[in-house]
Amino acid sequence: MAPGAWASAVTHSLATALRVAVAILLSALLLACPAEEFHARLTGRTIRVAAEDSLDGTTGWRPEQREVLLGRVLRVLAATGDTWVASGTGSADVVIYAYPASSCAVEGSGRYVAGARYVEIDPACTPSEDVLAWVATHELLHWLTWDRHRWLGHVCAFPSEVADCHEEVFGPAILAPRIPDLGDGLSLDVYLRHADVRLLTVLSSAHGR
Ligand SMILES: [Zn+2]
Repeated sequence: MAPGAWASAVTHSLATALRVAVAILLSALLLACPAEEFHARLTGRTIRVAAEDSLDGTTGWRPEQREVLLGRVLRVLAATGDTWVASGTGSADVVIYAYPASSCAVEGSGRYVAGARYVEIDPACTPSEDVLAWVATHELLHWLTWDRHRWLGHVCAFPSEVADCHEEVFGPAILAPRIPDLGDGLSLDVYLRHADVRLLTVLSSAHGR
C-alpha cells in the first residue's frame, strides 16, 4: 500500500469509528431522555409562586414540603411553556396555602376556586412528596387555565367521567379528575402528560393567546 493510500485508509477508518461513536452517543442520549416528557410552546411569561401556612394558623408546610412546592413543582410546571419562580407572598401571582380540609376524599386534598389568586392544599392529605407534587401541580394548572383562558375543568379518560370534562382533550393527565391509584398510592411520576400539554395548546388556540 502506498503511503498516501495507507494514510487515507487510516483516515477513513477513523472517520467510520467516529461516526459509530457519535451514533452510539446519540442513541444513549435519546434513551436517557424520558420519552413521556412533553412541553408546550414557550410563552415568555414568568409566574411567581409563594407557599404560605393557613391563615387561621391551624396547619402549615414543613421545610421539605416547601422545597417540593417551590422547587420540584415549579420545575414540572416549566412544561406549560411559562417560567415558574418562587417568590414572596406580596409579589406572588399565585399562593399555595395550606388549609385544613374537612376530608381527604376525592378532590378533598386540594382545591381551586375560579378567580382566586391562590390554591389550597391540605398537608395532612398528601402523605408523600410525590402526592404533594402531584396535587400542587394539579391545582396550579387549574389556576393557570383559569387565569389565562377563563377555563376551569378536568382532562378526563372518557366523556362525562365527571361534570367538567374538557370536550375535546382526553387521556391520562395530571389534570385528571382523580389521582391515579398506583398500588401504595404514594409513588407517582409527576410530569405533564401529553393530554395536559395538548389542553394548553387547544385552550391557547381557542382563545387566541
Ligand atoms: Zn381538579
